[in-house]
Amino acid sequence: MSRYKIYSMNKLTKVAGVLAKNEAAVKHNIFGLGELNTGSSPYFSGASYLKGLVPSGDDVDVHVGSVSFEPGSHNNWHIHHDGYQIILVTTGEGWAQIAGQPAQSLKPGDVVVFHDGEKHWHGAKKNSWFTHLVIGKGTTEWLEPVNQKDYDQLDQQEEK
Ligand code: MN
Repeated sequence: MSRYKIYSMNKLTKVAGVLAKNEAAVKHNIFGLGELNTGSSPYFSGASYLKGLVPSGDDVDVHVGSVSFEPGSHNNWHIHHDGYQIILVTTGEGWAQIAGQPAQSLKPGDVVVFHDGEKHWHGAKKNSWFTHLVIGKGTTEWLEPVNQKDYDQLDQQEEK
């Protein structure tokens, strides 16, 4: 591990001057943080990390992985085609929203199913790191970013 990596792993994240929640729990989660998820980064609002656990193949036709988000990081609206996606929250706090429905506040133990063709997004709360397992099948169609004002309002509503 490089000196920079050790430094960055130990440097605590602040959001608006406040120490972000659940950083150590996410970085040391039981499945591992994985690598920076550069392949999907054009479709994420911030950094995410991907730890592949089971690749899909001829024998097992679903893929399983663990995705971690830095505070405030979430993906764009997107659709899983010819399959589905199930997320199982392991660490931290986040949001998931299916188009036309209110966003759902997520904590460890929560499970959300996104069915074939359902437009949705998921990711961290503004001030918390977040990890969910993903079990999925099919292809992903990436759409527009989540409106920043709408995202910001989620945490504000919760603080009331
Ligand atoms: Mn999804």
